[in-house]
Amino acid sequence: MEMNTITGHCNKHDQILIDEKKCVFCNPEPSKDHKDAMIFYAFRYCLGRMTYAVIDCVEYIIWAWDDLSDKTKDRIKKEINEALESGDAGMDIDRNKWKKILQLKD
Ligand SMILES: [Zn+2]
Repeated sequence: MEMNTITGHCNKHDQILIDEKKCVFCNPEPSKDHKDAMIFYAFRYCLGRMTYAVIDCVEYIIWAWDDLSDKTKDRIKKEINEALESGDAGMDIDRNKWKKILQLKD
């Protein structure tokens, strides 16, 4: 990726860059780290909430589990355990959904 030093755009795509190195059009696929991060942000949003977003989030994490990094898996399980212990994991129906993630293999 080459940046036009005057406009700050990618020369190939003439798009503004997120930073000096990243043009999302040169890299149309998010990196594995980027996907991990987005799933983790969604998880943080959903944990403890009482909304239909919880089941979507739990299902998505289960579906994506094998592709997540060990670090992300550990963080997710750790935060679920903490939320369950402190009573911040929502209603019983939601708590049972989060517990399904704890049963996944590391
Ligand atoms: Zn580009």
